[in-house]
Amino acid sequence: MQNLEPFSRRSFLKTLSIGAGALALTPTLQSLISSDKKLGIALVGLGGYSRGQLAPALLETKHCYLAGLVTGTPSKADEWSKKYNVPNKNIYNYSNFDEIAKNPDIDIVYVVLPVSMHKEFTIRAAKAGKHVICEKPMALNAAECTEMIAACKKAKRMLSIGYRLHFDPHNMEMMRLGQKKVYGKVTAIDTGNGFVYRGDPNAWRLKKALSGGGALMDMGVYSIQGTRYTLGQEPLFVTATEVKTNNDLFAEVDETINWKFEFPGGLVTTGKSSYNNNWGYLKATAEKGNFSLEPAFGYGGIKGSTHLGVMELPQINQQAAQMDDFALCVMNKKPTRVPGEEGLKDMKVIDAIYRSIASGKRERIV
Ligand code: NAD
Repeated sequence: MQNLEPFSRRSFLKTLSIGAGALALTPTLQSLISSDKKLGIALVGLGGYSRGQLAPALLETKHCYLAGLVTGTPSKADEWSKKYNVPNKNIYNYSNFDEIAKNPDIDIVYVVLPVSMHKEFTIRAAKAGKHVICEKPMALNAAECTEMIAACKKAKRMLSIGYRLHFDPHNMEMMRLGQKKVYGKVTAIDTGNGFVYRGDPNAWRLKKALSGGGALMDMGVYSIQGTRYTLGQEPLFVTATEVKTNNDLFAEVDETINWKFEFPGGLVTTGKSSYNNNWGYLKATAEKGNFSLEPAFGYGGIKGSTHLGVMELPQINQQAAQMDDFALCVMNKKPTRVPGEEGLKDMKVIDAIYRSIASGKRERIV
């Protein structure tokens, strides 16, 4: 269970002084750190997220470092091995990846590939005896997530999902205010996440076989997460509708989706995802106040407020905190706060949203 104690500015600054990665740790976990050992992480897929966020974050981590690379592009292997000082013996391609089993430098494999490849590489990594972080959305559907969880259990390896916002102070504050009912019971949540897609029309994100879906899979997953972790509850039913204005660009995948969740006790929340609107907010109303984030889901620049004023919380390197926390969980054999089961819960919701769009009816989330 996540630590939901309030953040004070002073305790944050104190923790910051011992490193961004330690920031999100509970005192219990911190006290278990026994050595200065750093675990080796291999990034699988050296695309935009690995290049722009994960590799730079691995220069700031305290408990793990970039030890290996898995890429299908030899020129990237050369460039990255020089830039990040990764020896040739720790560089693999998608075919010889399984040989990583024999490499003691690699403790954790981080899957940063198109969604259709998440299941295969998570399972291959676990079979190779490595712990795994898999990017969001966890897989093409809930059935795949279940297979991935089972494979990691069988191999006795830990599986975590790249849910960086569980380590962001502002999103953690939303969890605390909502789950601890600081302003009374939550009576409404509205959330949206999206951007105006101006990227490559041939990108994997727009190919259903590779992505599993459009803005819902890519961006909506944050809003679904936000709703679930603000409430600390699971939705029972969903009713969803789709809006498409560009049938050429979004021929295979969803552009904009609106949904309504029904929670136990009758609470109804609303949410939306889009590749055609710049949204990024998470707003909760409670019996005695309200609390919200906007922007809510970015790598930084998150802004929060309540009916009492601005949330005075620091921005941190979310990816460094996320990876350091997982490294410590592995070292100390402690469960991660973002296990595969958390990804599975979101995929069950996403599956039900797509079912509701197809049926035109309210669907049970199973
Ligand atoms: P990207 O397109 O920039 O990179 C994808 C990588 O996969 C590239 O290196 C590409 O060469 C490789 N690849 C291998 N086989 C491929 C194929 N058949 N088609 C296309 N590419 C192939 O994508 P990205 O933005 O880095 O996203 C990768 C994963 O990371 C996705 O799951 C995405 O949702 C996730 N992601 C997470 C965050 C986050 O904030 N947690 C942010 C961005 C992306």
